[in-house]
Amino acid sequence: MDGKNKEKGCSSKGCKDKAPDSAQKLRDITEDQALKNRLSLIKHKIMVLSGKGGVGKSTVAANVAVALAMEGRRVGILDIDFHGPSIPTLLNLEGRQIQHDGESLLPAELAEGVKVISLGFFLKDPSDAVIWRGPMKMNVIKQLLTEVKWGELDYLIMDFPPGTGDEPLSVAQLVPDSDGAIIVTTPQNLSTIDVRKSITFCRKLNVPVIGVIENMSGFVCPECRTVLDIFKTGGGEKMASEMGVPFLARIPIDPQVVEASDSGSPFVYHYSKTEVAKAFLKAVQPLLALEDVTVEKPSITKEKGMNTKRIAIPVTQGVLSSHFGHCEIFAIFDVDSENRVLGRNDVTPPPHEPGTFPAWLRQQGADIIIAGGMGSRAQGLFNESGIQVVVGAPTVDLEHVLEGYLNGTLETGGNLCDH
Ligand code: ADP
Repeated sequence: MDGKNKEKGCSSKGCKDKAPDSAQKLRDITEDQALKNRLSLIKHKIMVLSGKGGVGKSTVAANVAVALAMEGRRVGILDIDFHGPSIPTLLNLEGRQIQHDGESLLPAELAEGVKVISLGFFLKDPSDAVIWRGPMKMNVIKQLLTEVKWGELDYLIMDFPPGTGDEPLSVAQLVPDSDGAIIVTTPQNLSTIDVRKSITFCRKLNVPVIGVIENMSGFVCPECRTVLDIFKTGGGEKMASEMGVPFLARIPIDPQVVEASDSGSPFVYHYSKTEVAKAFLKAVQPLLALEDVTVEKPSITKEKGMNTKRIAIPVTQGVLSSHFGHCEIFAIFDVDSENRVLGRNDVTPPPHEPGTFPAWLRQQGADIIIAGGMGSRAQGLFNESGIQVVVGAPTVDLEHVLEGYLNGTLETGGNLCDH
């Protein structure tokens, strides 16, 4: 195979003018794929919203997360509040600064078994006034969702500022497969327009409403520990049924919740026998039920467009893998006849047995494989499967490999492997 892929190049002015656009498009696709890859490790993504502040939304988010961990699930909590993140206070993480391993951001890990990232970890001083405009927030949120190394999670609980502003809007757009939102309200706010606004927001953005939690509903007497209905309660259930959304639980006011919150001890864990803790454990049952629902994942075997070529690149640790037979995944790009990248899908190959990959990649619809080293026998098998082989590509990031291949500047040095 020729060392350089010059025949792909085009020196006409029109093509050169288009180059920056296509490079940007490729970067966007790569970024979107990195986000998808990260989110694919999280089974259920749940937003916690409220119409108004002070209804206990963050308290509910923190306790729901811990309650799920108490049920044996792997849980993360992401606090996306740019102006007043309260999760660090609620979980005894005040003053914590963000940690990283050089590649990814690392969440704090609580003794109660929950991983936590808060925007508060990025502020030197919690009273720092940062002025954020909508698009900046969206970029930061995208970065957070992409760069935090949660590992595999069963649930990611996302806490937002009250209302339906840029933060939940960004997440609704960036996480299109979220399981939905829990809406927190109090009996006093039920009749107000705010809860309905939250529900309408979800409906407009195709975010399922998992259900409504009525917090501060009744009062736990500090003396006898019985729940007293000091205000009118039960309206949450009525409102939920009027709006056609599930009602999850009523959580009473318990002065011990305030103490626990102020001292950073998740209530549901440290006071697990109380009415409030029982109510939280009840509220997470519908979340546990989500595990029975199977979501259909898009498949790479979907039809290619006419004149589209499909290029497969073996990847290990984010760069082209020098030994395609031992790669972690194949990144598969669809490229149109004008060398514009249309999309990317990452697929995990079957266990490596000599001769399996050519047939398998053919099933994936691949036309071209760009590899580092490859033995002549394997090259022959790919060619027999109708797959063109480019060997000797450098072990660098995929943008460079693909862009270089498409514009004819890919340096394909020596083929280092011949077994
Ligand atoms: P939000 O996120 O809606 O602004 P927070 O979760 O910060 O609200 O809660 C506001 C205050 O209400 C906190 O002091 C918290 O401890 C208290 N609180 C929340 N839920 C309860 C409850 N069920 N019983 C007693 N206090 C509560």
